[in-house]
Order: sequence, then structure tokens, then C-alpha cells
Amino acid sequence: MLVVMKTDATPAEVEAVAQRIRELGYTPHVIPGATRTAIGITGNRGPEGRDALEVMPGVAEVIRVTAPYKLVSRETHPEATCFPVAATHVGHGFTVIAGPCSVENEKMLLETAEFLVRQGVKLLRGGAYKPRTSPYAFQGLGEEGLRLLAKARERTGIGIVTEVLDVENVDRVEEIADVLQIGTRNMQNYSLLRRVSRASKPVLLKRGMAATLEEWLMAAEYVVSGGNRNVILCERGVRTFADLTRNTLDLSAIPVVKQLSHLPILIDPSHGTGKAAYVPSMCLAALAAGADGLIVEVHPDPSHALSDGAQSLDFTTFRKIYAALQPIAAALGMTIQ
Ligand code: PEP
Ligand code: MN
Repeated sequence: MLVVMKTDATPAEVEAVAQRIRELGYTPHVIPGATRTAIGITGNRGPEGRDALEVMPGVAEVIRVTAPYKLVSRETHPEATCFPVAATHVGHGFTVIAGPCSVENEKMLLETAEFLVRQGVKLLRGGAYKPRTSPYAFQGLGEEGLRLLAKARERTGIGIVTEVLDVENVDRVEEIADVLQIGTRNMQNYSLLRRVSRASKPVLLKRGMAATLEEWLMAAEYVVSGGNRNVILCERGVRTFADLTRNTLDLSAIPVVKQLSHLPILIDPSHGTGKAAYVPSMCLAALAAGADGLIVEVHPDPSHALSDGAQSLDFTTFRKIYAALQPIAAALGMTIQ
């Protein structure tokens, strides 16, 4: 932090601020200027104490000079984070996670898992616990859905990515999942973030639909600071005035997050656009823009899906887009995981 004093601040006021900084346990560095004095602060780990300094006589403003997130920042960890998940790695190459929005029944799940494995996909998505806008909509199969996901892995060897909706179901989900997904609505559910920070599995943290990049990185900081370093960020679209897509997929988040953080970032073009017809171009764009992968909704019969059918790809379209990713990945010197 940097305290900027008013132009008419007296030497006594400057000294009082410096003294207060010492009381906070930090070191003040008084920097006299032509028109005003500034006081640099070192030894602080965050913006704590900012409010106390802001109200002191003679203070014009207190400026934050370092990011409030530490452990997830590139500054503290310049190398990109990469970790193993099931039979693949995230953060190394381009990871494709695919599958239905919800686990609906055994037949559709196994059919999807088998299809994806034939394509070369190593991670299956599918919600057993679903956060639905309407309480009357399909809420997911719950424990039965988890059992089916475990069966899909047993049968095909595919890794499982599934959502944890609340603190109470983390234990059960953790038993079967390879990655715990935190949905957009829960990005700032701090008790859930704290719980998954103690989980033994990586966390896929979706961006809140109205969250700034900084709020999202702070949410990731909760997970990492609690002890779980294996966090995957996932941009899934934010709310704007767009009326012809479900959300606005913020692809510009990719280079920004890459600059600010060492964590891998995946793109969810399904929730980002809300329409299957727009998903393929966003898949290609995500790869070209430097994302670490995709999480895409795929369903054997989208017109009969119990959730998010309109944005789910059928097998034929998925096969085509998966093939179309290959030459772009090759041109970028990347492999599809
Ligand atoms: C999902 O992945 O099916 C889902 C509910 O995602 P989001 O939290 O991004 O809406
Ligand atoms: Mn969905």
C-alpha cells in the first residue's frame, strides 16, 4: 500500500501516519515529493489497515499497489500450474472435458462415456446435484447420479468431473469425483470454498456470473490458501445486456488471467452461449486465445435432455469440433489431452 498525503499535510500528520503504520506491524517509508508526501508501506501481506489509515488527518488516499491475492498470483509463482487428473494432466496441453449437463440415467451416461472415450476424451462431466433456477426443474439424481458416474469410470476408465452444491455433499462427491466443480452460483460461497480447500481432489472453480476477475481470483485464493493448490479456473460467461446468447462468454479473461495467475483456465462455451449452434466457434476461439482447455456439454439426444438441451452438442457435432481442434492445437504446438 501507498499512503498519499494531502498537499497541506503537516509534518506532524505525516509522522502520526508513519507511527500508526508501525503500530499495525508494518514499516513506513516516507517519500517526500515536490508538492506532497507519500508513505510507502512494506511488511504487510494485504490491504489490512487500509481503513484505519484512510481516515487519518492529512491523508488524501491509500492506494493498493500489490494484488490482494497472493498464492494464485503469477508474481509469487511464475511457472504455470499443472497437475495430474485421472489419466491426464490439466495445465499441460489442451484439456477437453465433455459430457451431459446432468446425469439422467445409466443408459445415456454410459453411451456418452463410451462415445467420448472412443474420441480420445479423458474426462467426463455430468451433474448429479444440479443448481436449477426453478425448484420445479430436474434437480439431478443425487447419490444415484454419483453411483452412475462411478460406474461410467469403472467401465471406461474416463475421469469424472461433477459439481458439489453444498458443504454437506462434499464428502460423498469427493469419494467418486476426480475433480470437484464449483458452479457459478457458488463462486462466493465461502464455507464451500473452505471445505473444498481441504479436499483431496482438484477443484474446477467457475467464474460467478457477475464476478469481476479479481473476485474470481480471490475465490481461488480461498481454496489455495486452505491447502488445495490444484485449482482450475473456468470462464462460463457473465451477465450483460446480450439478448441473443444466454451469457457473454468473456474470452478476454484468458490472457488477463494468464498474466495475473499461474492457474489453468478452461472455457465453458455451452453455458457461455446457451445455444449449440454457437458452441463450435467458441471452442476454436478458446484454443486460439490460449485457454488450457474446454468443458463442453454433449448429450446423445439433446432434444430430450432433462437440462440444458439447447446448448448441448450431439455426438456428430462433437466429433466434428473435436477433429477441428486438432490442426489449431498442432499449429500452436499443443496436444489435446
Ligand atoms: C453446469 O456446468 O451444468 C452448470 C450448472 O454450470 P454453471 O455453474 O456455470 O451454470
Ligand atoms: Mn448445464
